[in-house]
Amino acid sequence: MIDSRRGGWTLTDLISVVVPFFNEEDGIDNLFIEICAAFETIPNSVFEIICVNDGSHDLTLAKLLNHASGDPRIKVIDLSRNFGKEAALTAGLDHATGDAVIPFDADMQDPPNVIAQLVEKWREGYDVVIARRADRSSDSYVKRSTAALFYRAINAISDITIPENVGDFRLMSRATVDALKLLPENCRFMKGLFAWVGGRTAEIEYVRQPRNEGNSKFSGWRLWNLALEGITSFSTLPLRIWTYFGGITALFTFFYALFLIVRTTIHGVDVPGYASILTVVLFLGGVQLMGIGMLGEYLGRIYNEAKRRPSYIVRKVYFQKSLEHEAA
Ligand code: UDP
Ligand code: MG
Repeated sequence: MIDSRRGGWTLTDLISVVVPFFNEEDGIDNLFIEICAAFETIPNSVFEIICVNDGSHDLTLAKLLNHASGDPRIKVIDLSRNFGKEAALTAGLDHATGDAVIPFDADMQDPPNVIAQLVEKWREGYDVVIARRADRSSDSYVKRSTAALFYRAINAISDITIPENVGDFRLMSRATVDALKLLPENCRFMKGLFAWVGGRTAEIEYVRQPRNEGNSKFSGWRLWNLALEGITSFSTLPLRIWTYFGGITALFTFFYALFLIVRTTIHGVDVPGYASILTVVLFLGGVQLMGIGMLGEYLGRIYNEAKRRPSYIVRKVYFQKSLEHEAA
């Protein structure tokens, strides 16, 4: 078949769908059915599904292996324990071999039929196609407003721009994924790393669905830590701000001291003032502790990076060839 965009000949593209699984046993059967159905509508494509089992303690692994033994397009990467979604996604991206790679959640909140739109846009020549949620009505009010606050904060204080209402669900070209693999940090805030790598980017809109089965793995505390991870990975403003705060406080103190000297010279010593002194001491004590805490956040991360531990450990990789091998 002739296709002018691609140097004359239409080639078959291999698309990798990378899915992290953490205790998702209930949704697995349906997930594979839907992804396979979605690819039937995409011409000139073959696909592989890279399933990363992120230390699930239910039947997720058994179910994945069951599917993988019957379908060579399904590969299973079993991690040695739960490393968290960012690490699981990294493992999946490292093992994906496709011309384009799509991270995908196991709970199918992102509808599989959107994959066709991503691929179509990518074929127009983009490096990255991001999928923006047209509305976030499937999320709670608190999650929506804290997310909005987080994006405003991180975009204001970091050099990169992380698009709002965009998750990990997107399509990346092989070159983009290879660039991503060059980033050596093991604290991996994926949305930030995606934005850092850049590339010619297109955008499509879709409506995000509520979770199919089970509950979200991201509690308020986990989300808070993810937000801290994002901010500390992409901005040093929280570290530097204390210099300015300290400078301004010192300047005010200097003028206040001058004022006190003048007043004492004219009116003599003024004994009352216990409440104001205590307020200032407590306030500055609190501010100093916050500053030290902020240092701690960065120091902890430097410590983690300095250890140079990998962000995940693979217990075993399963794909059909090795299963046949084992059976023989
Ligand atoms: N996930 C994972 N490891 C974890 C937590 C989550 O691999 O420690 C996976 C989970 O199985 C799902 C995806 O990450 O495929 C998104 O998780 P979830 O739906 O709980 O997040 P939310 O949609 O609420 O942001
Ligand atoms: Mg989800």
